[in-house]
Amino acid sequence: MTLPFFDPRPENDRLRARIEAAVRRVLDAPRLILGPEVEAFEREFAAWLGARHGVGVNSGTDALALALRAVGVGRDDEVLTVANAGAPPVAAVRALGARPRFVDVDPATLVLDPDRLADAIGPRTRAVLPVHLYGQPAPLDAIRELADARGLPVVEDCAQSHGATLGGRPTGTLGRIAAFSFYPTKNLGAVGDGGLCATDDDDLAARLRRLRFYGFDDERRALEDGANTRLDELQAAILRVKLTALDAAVAERQALAAAYDEALADRDVIPVAPGAGCEHARHLYVVRCRDRAAVTAALDDAGVGWAVHYPVPAHRMPAYAPFADEPLPVTERACDEVLSLPLHPGLPGDAVERVATALPARG
Ligand SMILES: *Cc1c(COP(=O)(O)O)cnc(C)c1O
Repeated sequence: MTLPFFDPRPENDRLRARIEAAVRRVLDAPRLILGPEVEAFEREFAAWLGARHGVGVNSGTDALALALRAVGVGRDDEVLTVANAGAPPVAAVRALGARPRFVDVDPATLVLDPDRLADAIGPRTRAVLPVHLYGQPAPLDAIRELADARGLPVVEDCAQSHGATLGGRPTGTLGRIAAFSFYPTKNLGAVGDGGLCATDDDDLAARLRRLRFYGFDDERRALEDGANTRLDELQAAILRVKLTALDAAVAERQALAAAYDEALADRDVIPVAPGAGCEHARHLYVVRCRDRAAVTAALDDAGVGWAVHYPVPAHRMPAYAPFADEPLPVTERACDEVLSLPLHPGLPGDAVERVATALPARG
């Protein structure tokens, strides 16, 4: 029997009765857009995070784009970010007509390398967009020091880091605005698309609320160019249920990761270890391979699902090649070597052992 890379059903099944009740509540409600469920979820998520405001939107990518706009990024401005997090952060930058400038990553943790950041800041730089990749907090203290000195806002990409902390402080509270995704695979997953911007800043929160709804004021007059990107009541109602299980889900992910660490000790792969001083949210369990094709062939033979996050660095994608201005050796090497193993709440009890057995032994 095959072991899929990801399956949302075990976690949703545990909460099935409460999720079904939430769906019925929305079916019976008179208001289906920006109603009480979204309002309650925004409040509950912000409280869980320890932020003043949550603003629900349609996706994590939209949350990033709105956050960048809210901090003042516009056409032809430059946003510093990484190239190893797939397309979404770059798509958010490009949605504003702004230009990504890619910064290489730390060779051990694969998140934005602050030592590379200072050189990348230029006259057109308008914001910094670090990604807490795989659930590993980017070093926001060092990044903030550089950004603050130049008056640059930091927008955190928390799509993979619900539950991660740095020096005891949650990712999502370390920059000006944080963008979360509730795509079904994420640590907090909806039954469809969803996202949220979190911030402590009252003015930015008001602007985000406006931007997600055509730039409207209370009388539905557009005060500025806005978007239609709203979290819907159904997803919000389901997310409220899942939020109550989020801390347990992250703890389960961390326990599975610890089991992998032990089980893979004699396998021919190298786990990407968490950085110092942080709690890794274990959105993904990522190893590096000397010969990834051989490793994935072995997993295929054993019926074990796998994924690569991400195989093509953004600056090598046709759409973003014009922004490939500096060599990114650490990023490129990592993209050739990384491999994600199955890890999600409700993973079958024998899965870790089964994956480990399927992997080639260290020679
Ligand atoms: C998933 C993801 C996003 C985008 O979230 P969506 O809800 O799918 O738009 C952004 N950044 C990272 C790092 C992600 O993993």
